[in-house]
Amino acid sequence: MATEAARVLPGLQVTLWPEPFEADDVLAVAAWHPPAGLLGTLPKLQMVASIGAGTEHILRCPDLPADVAVTRIVDPAQARGMAEYVLWAALYYHRGFDQMAAQQRQGLWHMPPQGPARAFRVGIMGLGGMGLQTALCLRDFGFAVSGWSRSAHAVEDLHTFAGDAALPEFLAPLDMVVCLLPLTPATHGLCNAGFFARMKTGAALVNVGRGEQVVLPDLLAALDSGHLRGAVLDVFDREPLQADDALWRHPKICLTPHMASSASDQTIAQQIVTNTLRLRQGLLPLHTMDRQRGY
Ligand code: NDP
Repeated sequence: MATEAARVLPGLQVTLWPEPFEADDVLAVAAWHPPAGLLGTLPKLQMVASIGAGTEHILRCPDLPADVAVTRIVDPAQARGMAEYVLWAALYYHRGFDQMAAQQRQGLWHMPPQGPARAFRVGIMGLGGMGLQTALCLRDFGFAVSGWSRSAHAVEDLHTFAGDAALPEFLAPLDMVVCLLPLTPATHGLCNAGFFARMKTGAALVNVGRGEQVVLPDLLAALDSGHLRGAVLDVFDREPLQADDALWRHPKICLTPHMASSASDQTIAQQIVTNTLRLRQGLLPLHTMDRQRGY
């Protein structure tokens, strides 16, 4: 990525940590997890750029200066990749591929009942850059789609809900719930026992937001009791997931290694270079997250 940034703008001095550098020269740091103790030692730092869509890992840095802009990558191509992943999950449950995989292991030939996509209700939590594109893709495919966000959104042919008070009504009819929320104090542990109890019996969960949003013991209890049909999990509170983790072998869980969607190195480099140039020109960087709101 550093090489790509230098290629995009040869005049820019790009240093790859831990190569030596002059602390006074550093205007911007681009990182996933900034090295511990680094951010507080850069007197001219104006921007910390997350190399992904989320910023929670940057906000956790104890030495992050209060007046520095924290930016993230916003990429429509990445949102299309996310829509593909969630569309796959919707088809997986709508067409019963989870049950077919279980039947194959038992040598069982049994055709499942088949209904139209419009009878399968998918709810997307988060209608931002990722969630809205995903909701529109599923809607255009024919699924019955609804969305839940913090503030109200009006979108054609999408049943939308806003705020904590509307969550139970949003969840109740859904066959599949997709978590595509940023990790904030308000969304940490959101998918817990009370949340799963509000989901319809036989519904499935897809978590492509962040691992800390799902309380795993509560999810396992909801799966093992038969209340929930299954879960597709792409994100975990500790990544990579250890090889001996029991989640790998749970019959109702489908795991992927945080691969739902990522931006290309070129896009990441281009956006960080653009923002660094804006800083040099005295302009605010693009895609700055709101530190009060937490995303
Ligand atoms: P955005 O900031 O564009 O959108 C966030 C959405 O979540 C908004 O609709 C916002 O509501 C809603 N939201 C935030 N807090 C709450 C809350 N407390 N209650 C209800 N709704 C809330 O983020 P993106 O769409 O770009 O990305 C979302 C997250 O997806 C990322 O932060 C990251 O964690 C995850 N992600 C995962 C990837 C993967 O490969 N697994 C890849 C990329 C992202 P409002 O519209 O009202 O502001």
